[in-house]
Amino acid sequence: MKLILLGPPGSGKGTVSEKLEKDLNLLHISAGELLREEVQKKTTIGKDIKEYIDRGELVPNKFVVEMVKLEVKNKDNYILDGFPRSIEQAKEIEDLGITLVIYLEVPEKIVIERFAGRRVCKEGTHGYHIKYLPPKKEGICDQDGSPLVQRKDDKPEVIKERFRIYHQETQPLIDYYTKKSILKKVDGALAPEIVYTAVKKVVKKSLSR
Ligand SMILES: [Zn+2]
Repeated sequence: MKLILLGPPGSGKGTVSEKLEKDLNLLHISAGELLREEVQKKTTIGKDIKEYIDRGELVPNKFVVEMVKLEVKNKDNYILDGFPRSIEQAKEIEDLGITLVIYLEVPEKIVIERFAGRRVCKEGTHGYHIKYLPPKKEGICDQDGSPLVQRKDDKPEVIKERFRIYHQETQPLIDYYTKKSILKKVDGALAPEIVYTAVKKVVKKSLSR
């Protein structure tokens, strides 16, 4: 199973990959993590990548593609997370023979609700959600008693913009994989366990073919 998992921030993509990794023994490959690791290892590519990051520029396609390809070489069971990001990248990995692409579809309203309810304590170490994971005492951290605040990144206007950019970037990929008949949409607006059950069903169906 060579799986690509697509979904906007707040779609529960992280949770789904984690569970798939354990349940179906798929290797979870995050392009972002690969980049960070490479930089940490201070390899030749790592040093080049760091220069782009330090300048606040996007890491060029060829590095990301090269690293992902190196990572999946001779492997048949993996999930690609956060990659590909563009048609260009998708075309570069055409030879991998991707089995299935799952798109976690979530309406903007739900994504905003998920982020808008998040709170962190002033120390920034303990996370809460006013609806899904409320503290015992409103506005106060259970662990250290410090006040709970909303992170700047979780404000609705910031989320809306991230959501818009994600769709702008991802729609061409969705069209691309739809044309190849390997894309399946899963409703990501439901509770995490229901979403995961649906994803697993799609993966198993694809495996049995
Ligand atoms: Zn705390």
